[in-house]
Amino acid sequence: MRVGSGAWDRTADVVVIGYGCAGAVAAVTATENGAEAVIVEKQPRESHHTSSSMSAGMFLSPPDSSSILEYLAALGRMGGGRPWTDGPVLRTWAEYAATTRQWIEARGGAIVPIPAPGEHPQLPGGAHLSKHRFRGMGIGLARFLEAQIEAKKIPVLYETRATHLLTNPRGRVVGVEARQGGRRLRVRASRAVVLAPGGFEYDEQAKLNYLKVYPTYFTGSEVNTGDGLRMALEVGAQLWHMNCVAAGLVLKFPEMPVAFQVDYLGRSVAKTPGKTEETASVVSGHIVVNRDGERYTSENVKGQCLYYELPVFDTHRLVYPRVPSYFIFDRRRLENGPLPLVTSGPAGPTRLYHWSLDNSREIEQGWIVTANTVRGLARKIGVPADTLERTVRTFNRHCEKGRDPDFGRKPNELIPLGAPPYCAAVLWPGGPSTQGGPRRNSRCQVVSAGDDPIPGIYSCGEMGATYGMLYPGGGSNLADCFASGRIAGENAAREKRP
Ligand SMILES: Cc1cc2nc3c(=O)[nH]c(=O)nc-3n(C[C@H](O)[C@H](O)[C@H](O)COP(=O)(O)OP(=O)(O)OC[C@H]3O[C@@H](n4cnc5c(N)ncnc54)[C@H](O)[C@@H]3O)c2cc1C
Repeated sequence: MRVGSGAWDRTADVVVIGYGCAGAVAAVTATENGAEAVIVEKQPRESHHTSSSMSAGMFLSPPDSSSILEYLAALGRMGGGRPWTDGPVLRTWAEYAATTRQWIEARGGAIVPIPAPGEHPQLPGGAHLSKHRFRGMGIGLARFLEAQIEAKKIPVLYETRATHLLTNPRGRVVGVEARQGGRRLRVRASRAVVLAPGGFEYDEQAKLNYLKVYPTYFTGSEVNTGDGLRMALEVGAQLWHMNCVAAGLVLKFPEMPVAFQVDYLGRSVAKTPGKTEETASVVSGHIVVNRDGERYTSENVKGQCLYYELPVFDTHRLVYPRVPSYFIFDRRRLENGPLPLVTSGPAGPTRLYHWSLDNSREIEQGWIVTANTVRGLARKIGVPADTLERTVRTFNRHCEKGRDPDFGRKPNELIPLGAPPYCAAVLWPGGPSTQGGPRRNSRCQVVSAGDDPIPGIYSCGEMGATYGMLYPGGGSNLADCFASGRIAGENAAREKRP
């Protein structure tokens, strides 16, 4: 704990750490509730990009709190039955989530409803989730948030990295210490600090210690180095959801810090107007295999919970057989557009990487391996050739029969691997986000090891997300940013000055 005394460089009622979706919503809400807010943001203005701006801009928009609450409560009991998230937290969250859409529209946000099958339709309330998407996806979301911040004249201190929370001698958080260029900056929060610095996707030590398998790679902003975890721990915060992620398999190559989301089906879906993955006619064959060349999953039907199938450890060979895995596909998929999604993530509109339209550059740089035979491909990627050949033969037979008795792959995806070249790309555990961080109560106050709120500190967004083990479905994290950002902003603004 660092006691902040002496001179302050700057003062605001509410100091928000991080200018992603959660931080922006908290700052706007605090301002609308009569507080003067300031945002401390570690990136420079010109290159500022966040997981929020790299996202697909989709959010859960439940029409009322009851259906989503039923679903969240069911999800929260997964993995042993002890609730991952406290009932009062879920109840307050659901009330706010049910009005997110109106909150955005009242401020001029351009959003559209989108078809939304639930990720876990077998659970109560999970069959249909109401969702909306920002026009312009993550960039559209970021522009909307910037417009709010500018309209409210909320100062953003760019290139200012928060390093410590400062307390008074009684342990109340009263400000933030930051590095701005080469100098130390101390910003006083006369009401409260709101922690919104995103997750710990690029903190290798935290991932090794907290996640279920290492390495795990992420597709969002590489500046999310878990600073919020260290700041929260310093003031005695209790952590939650640390081993939880929204993740599956991602493409990751040593030359890039950020991973890519896989577009398994390619243009057949993306370019078919009005079609979803459920209804599109898939035109190319692909499978996912482990390092032994065997399938172990129904490939891309698992959404953001496939991750939990990956940490199977072979205690005899001392390896994770599914880490890495391989995306094996045929010529048609190669010709069917870039391997990663180009609507969000590093190959999306933020263009952290320009993936070639025909995948040729990535073949040249060895990210995609090709061969004229399945055996040849197996040898190149180092998986047993006999096994991979057998796996492809068996899968192709399932395709002829229109049924996958091994893993129940969707019938519209039972397309045999056809003409060569046969291709492979390495897949690692990973996805959009970590979910862990400081535990929060229904007011979004950070809670201590002894379950009491720590005075003066709130959190919102991905740093200690509301969900536990199972991610409810696409759009849940941004829904969390809006709901928890509003709750934190409102309550922080109402704090009495100490
Ligand atoms: C490719 C991709 C697609 C996605 N699509 C969706 C989707 O469609 N729907 C959905 O719900 N979720 C989606 N997600 C997840 C969602 O985007 C994130 O969970 C969410 O945007 C996190 O928002 P945040 O405000 O908590 O953090 P971020 O958006 O990551 O913002 C954190 C901010 O804090 C700053 N910061 C970090 N440390 C410090 C520090 N020490 N001091 C000062 N500033 C700091 C960062 O620079 C950044 O500006 C997606 C994620 C990815 C990667």
